[in-house]
Amino acid sequence: MEYQQILNTINSELSGISNSGEVATYIPELATISPKKLGMHLYCINSGHYSFGNNEERFSIQSISKVFSLTMAMSILDDQLFRRVDVEPSGNPFNSLIQLEYENGIPRNPFINAGALVISDILISELKNPKKDFLDFVHNITENNSISVNQKVFISEKECSFRNAALINLMKSFGNIKNDIEEVLDFYIYQCAIEMSCKELATAFMVYANSGKKLSDTTQILSEQKTKRINAIMQTCGFYDEAGEFSFRVGLPGKSGVGGGIAAIHPGQYAVTVWSPPLNPKGNSELGMHALEKLTTLTGYSIF
Ligand code: GLU
Repeated sequence: MEYQQILNTINSELSGISNSGEVATYIPELATISPKKLGMHLYCINSGHYSFGNNEERFSIQSISKVFSLTMAMSILDDQLFRRVDVEPSGNPFNSLIQLEYENGIPRNPFINAGALVISDILISELKNPKKDFLDFVHNITENNSISVNQKVFISEKECSFRNAALINLMKSFGNIKNDIEEVLDFYIYQCAIEMSCKELATAFMVYANSGKKLSDTTQILSEQKTKRINAIMQTCGFYDEAGEFSFRVGLPGKSGVGGGIAAIHPGQYAVTVWSPPLNPKGNSELGMHALEKLTTLTGYSIF
């Protein structure tokens, strides 16, 4: 079957699934999004774009941004980066504090909140103008300068980021946050509040499917070896405490966010993104998981 035919089949099957997920409410602004939104976009290295639904409508990328911040940090620093953040699945919720206490303030991986906050801290130390540089990075990999931050989402999360503040404080007490606590929180929330469409995210994730290179002009954004490592972390840690389940059902490296987006890649083949806001109890898009499971079933291949 051709990709567009496969996506059409997925679209019609999803309409028959009763969605038991719930839109995230702990960031109040995210709760204002219609639970009915649904879009999917597949960008194939050899044959281009395939899509359905709200694939060109922007949504809050939230934790998917953690892949971009890790990419920036890894392009600046070598292995010393991994003295401050580990690369093991956490098996705990994304905003959990518990492991930090007995692991000396070293987060399990860069994709849980604690780890992403350490990466934010590193980028603040390393970059001249972290917010601008971060947005410039996203503009570069998507070749789209209109991508920006949703100020309402940014303010909404800032007003109730008590757990993230607790995580930063705890890590600061262990010496694993070097900069001002408020500055780290501000930059982290800023990167999470970026809005992108499925199409734009698939273009950005093409870098990870294409050995670290942009497809349009073959610029090397990240070395092939470091890209392989990011893909490995996506595979093992990209879906909160459901990373095993995602590997089991879908079998692709990827990253989800509480805005209901999932971006995944098949190395050497394609980048694919889905957006459906209602989340399952582990915080992953309920329909997004179904859609991607169906994709690797119908194409007959995953990375396994
Ligand atoms: N900004 C969100 C938070 O820190 C991101 C969570 C997510 O998408 O997993 O809670």
